[in-house]
Amino acid sequence: MEFETVIGLEIHAQLKTNTKIFCGCSTEFGKPPNTNTCPVCLGMPGVLPVLNRTVVEYAIRMGLATNCEINRTNQFARKNYFYPDLPKGYQISQFELPICEHGWVEITVDDTIKRIGLTRIHMEEDAGKLIHDDHEPVSYVDLNRTGTPLIEIVSEPDLRSPEEAAAYLRKLHAIVRYLDICDGNMQEGSFRCDANISLRPKGQEAFGTRTELKNMNSFRNVQKALEYEVRRQRDILLDGGKVVQQTLLWDPDTNRTNAMRSKEEAHDYRYFPDPDLVPIVISEEWINEITVSLPELPHQRKSRLIETLGLSEDDAGIITGDRELADYFETALVRYDNGKKLANWIMTELLRELKERDQEISQCQVTPDGLAELLTMVDKGTISGKIAKTVFQEMMVSGKDAGTVVKEKNLVQMSDEGDLLKMIDEIISANPDQVTEYRGGKTKLMGFFVGQLMQKTKGRANPQLANQLLAKALDNK
Ligand code: ADP
Ligand code: MG
Ligand code: ZN
Repeated sequence: MEFETVIGLEIHAQLKTNTKIFCGCSTEFGKPPNTNTCPVCLGMPGVLPVLNRTVVEYAIRMGLATNCEINRTNQFARKNYFYPDLPKGYQISQFELPICEHGWVEITVDDTIKRIGLTRIHMEEDAGKLIHDDHEPVSYVDLNRTGTPLIEIVSEPDLRSPEEAAAYLRKLHAIVRYLDICDGNMQEGSFRCDANISLRPKGQEAFGTRTELKNMNSFRNVQKALEYEVRRQRDILLDGGKVVQQTLLWDPDTNRTNAMRSKEEAHDYRYFPDPDLVPIVISEEWINEITVSLPELPHQRKSRLIETLGLSEDDAGIITGDRELADYFETALVRYDNGKKLANWIMTELLRELKERDQEISQCQVTPDGLAELLTMVDKGTISGKIAKTVFQEMMVSGKDAGTVVKEKNLVQMSDEGDLLKMIDEIISANPDQVTEYRGGKTKLMGFFVGQLMQKTKGRANPQLANQLLAKALDNK
């Protein structure tokens, strides 16, 4: 029996405002517990929320960037539940009238472009945090995060594989970063996602029973958790069993999901319009103003790089998928105008070195100008492409510029015919057997001779010249 996977994501993005959504408290991360608080976000009786206008602006930006309809009138609602990190006993969110609806974004997986629907985007406040003591049976409440503005982005169940889900998540991450409305930090929880997943027999229209996965704090984890859940649900269904609708927690240490709560324990939130907050009415002028102020978006930047520089789909997609990386690329491009070569270097050397060090582009020791200088040295023949890789690794470690590394390590390319010929003579006399074999027709041995010469020059021989001189010397006699 074959199954089809169905996935829908709920993404929470913390908005990059200076102050909270309904009070003037700072949203700064990492402050001493309960210092970024006031009677409003502590949920004291008798206080009244005052809406932060920037939150609405950011939500509109996101809606416009994801092809949503902006509801000119929308409204906050109370989502009622008890939890120690929620002092009011309700979270201010949006329910029946969210700010944005019916949007879509495009993702590319396996060279196919696919449109994924956005059901809605709504604004809400974040809750506080519980910190559980590692040793004592004690938990602490930190309300610094209470009232931090969030948007929740709910997708249609349009995703058909963990890979598509990861691509969609990356796409939305890129968009919030381009719009500069969220810092995108998944480790700190500024950008987080819950994934709903179900399986159905291929060809069946009705969706199967879904589970909801929580606690995934990286793109990799999201994909891994979903892949695990596909296998788990498939095993149950193949066994003739039934998937239980429940919330599961992903454990990145054991690579499995664990039950958190089942449907029976699910909340009934008793939503109702918040009487403390009037409906939000958005004017056409405001929407027009925001529309013209939107920056270039990831897919637009991608098309531009493909059209103007001839980059491949893949290269352009990866480079523009991360705003910082795309900025890095375009800054380097100012001083080194071969876009294809630059992209190639970034896709291979730079990304590999970053991955090995588990670094983000923002932590990279090599500046865009530094990379431009290095590639210029290769083009000018000062160093070979192979040596450039060594130099680059050294630059990544020490932060020194290319010129300094090349000088310190004496890596300038050898292009002097006389010097090289002398070494070639030495090699020929030191390897008479190989020379005879080569001259007898075993021309594959050329590689051996080139290797010898590279060893002698510590990789510094100009490769073209080396090949040319060796061929001449070997063929002549
Ligand atoms: P809830 O409010 O209980 O989380 P929603 O109906 O708002 O439920 O759906 C939340 C998410 O679950 C949406 O992204 C939606 O696309 C997705 N979803 C709904 N039904 C299914 C299903 N059967 N399989 C996978 N995803 C689903
Ligand atoms: Mg949900
Ligand atoms: Zn406050």
